[in-house]
Amino acid sequence: MKKNILILSFLLIGFCGFAQNDEALTRETVQKSTIKGHIYFLASDELRGRETGSPEIDIAAKYLSTTFQRYGVAPVPGATEGYFQEVPLVKTITPDAYSLKIGDRVVDPEGLLRLEGANIDTKAEIVFMNYGLEKDFEDKKLAGKIAVVLAGREDAQDWRSVFMESAAKSKRAKEAGALGLVELHTQSPDNWIQFKRFTGGSVVGIKREEESSNSGFFNLWVKDYDSNFQKAVSDKKKPLFEVLISKEMQIEIPSKNVVGMVEGTDPELKNEYVIYSAHYDHIGVGKPNAEGDSIYNGARDNAVGVVTVMSAAESIAKNPTKRSALFILFTAEEKGLLGSRYYTENPLLPLEQMVYCFNSDNGGYNDTSIATIVGLGRTTAEKHIKEAAETFGLTAIDDPAGEQGLFDRSDNVNFAKKGIPAPTFSLGFTAFDAEIGKYYHQQADNPETMDYDYLEKFFSAFVLSARLIANDSETPFWTEGDKYYEAGKALYNEN
Ligand SMILES: [Zn+2]
Repeated sequence: MKKNILILSFLLIGFCGFAQNDEALTRETVQKSTIKGHIYFLASDELRGRETGSPEIDIAAKYLSTTFQRYGVAPVPGATEGYFQEVPLVKTITPDAYSLKIGDRVVDPEGLLRLEGANIDTKAEIVFMNYGLEKDFEDKKLAGKIAVVLAGREDAQDWRSVFMESAAKSKRAKEAGALGLVELHTQSPDNWIQFKRFTGGSVVGIKREEESSNSGFFNLWVKDYDSNFQKAVSDKKKPLFEVLISKEMQIEIPSKNVVGMVEGTDPELKNEYVIYSAHYDHIGVGKPNAEGDSIYNGARDNAVGVVTVMSAAESIAKNPTKRSALFILFTAEEKGLLGSRYYTENPLLPLEQMVYCFNSDNGGYNDTSIATIVGLGRTTAEKHIKEAAETFGLTAIDDPAGEQGLFDRSDNVNFAKKGIPAPTFSLGFTAFDAEIGKYYHQQADNPETMDYDYLEKFFSAFVLSARLIANDSETPFWTEGDKYYEAGKALYNEN
C-alpha cells in the first residue's frame, strides 16, 4: 500500500514536473512584442487584405516562410522552395451573355438567371414537367428536349428550399437525357433579389486535370410571377425554346500553402505528428465604408490564427516536443476551404501519421477571460487545453454557437473528414453578437483595435496546449460516439 502511494506520488511529481517545464518553455518564447510584430505586418494596409491570387498574399507567404527559416523550422520533403506547397486554383468567370427565347418572345434579361451551362446555342422542343419532382421524371425520356419545371415545391417556396430542389431537378433532367432545364419562378417574388446575388460573379475552385465544365447541359431560371410563361408552356401548341449562352472564362490563380516541420525527440512518438494550422488569406479590398476604409485587413481573421501557428513553431523549433510537429498555413480558406482541401487530397506526409490537427480561425472576441475552442469536448485532448488555458488565467469553453455549425465551416473539417481529430482554437466569444459583427469580415478588423495583453495569454494557452498534447504518452483521439469517431478508427487501424 505504502509502496503504491510512493509510486503514485512519484508519478504525480513527474507529471507536474513536465507540465511546469512546458509552462516555462512556453513563457520563454511567447512575447507580446513578437506577437504584435507579426500581426501588425500581416494585417497592414500594405498587404491589402491578403486575398488569394493577389500579389500581396505572396508577400505574406514569403514573410511566413522566412520566419520559419529564422525559427529553425525544417522544410517538409516535397515542398517547393523549402516551405511551399503549390495549390493550383482556377477562377471561372460567368458567361457575360445569355438569353432565352420562348417562341418569338425574348425573356427580359432582368428576369433571367444562369445556374449552369456555357457555350450553348440551341433550339429545341420543350416538355413541361410540373414541379420536376421524382414522380414527374419517372421513366421519362427527354433526349434532345428541354425540360421546363416550376421552381421549388408546391409547399416549399423559401429560397433555401428552391436552391436545394434545383440541384436535384437538374440531376434528374440530366439523367433523363435532357439538353437543359428551365425553371419558372411563379411564387415568392422576394426570392429573386437573393437569387441574383448568389448567381452573379465568379467562382474559385481547385484546378482539376480531368475537369470539363462544358457538359453542354444548362439550367436557366425565369422570373414568371405573372405566370405568363407558365401559360405559354402549358398550351397545347408548345413553343420552341432558343437558348444562347456565351463561353465562360477560366483564369488560373497561382496560390500556395506554407508548410514546415520539426522532428520529435522521442524515438517512437516522433512517428506521430501534430498539425498546427490556420489560414493566412483574407478577403482583400472592397467598397469603402463610412470612414473611407476599403481594406479588409483581417487582423482577427486570421492574422491571429497565423500567429498561433507561428508561436507554436517558434517554441517547438527551439525546444522540440516528443511528437513531431507539422505547421501548415492555408491559402484560399475564404474561397471555400480550398487550401486545406487540397492539402488533405495531396498530403506531403502520410495522413495516418497525423494524430491531431490543432487549427485556429477567428472572427472576433467579446470576452477576454476565455478562449473558445470549437470542438473542445470532441477530443480526448480537452483536459490539456483546459489546463493550459487555466495556467494563463483563461477559461477554455466549447463552441457556444452550435447552431452556426462552426466546426464544419473552417479548415479543420477537411482533416476531421479524413478521421483526424481537429478542433479550432478561437478568440473568446460567448455568442455571435454585435461586438463580433463589428469586426467579422469588416474593414474595421485592424491590428490597432485588439487587446495585446489578452492576446499574449491567448497565444500562451495555445502553445502550452500544443506542448502538452505533443508530449503526452497517450495519443489524442475523438471522444467515443463522435460523428468522426469511425472515420478516425478507419484511418489509423487500416495502417
Ligand atoms: Zn477565417
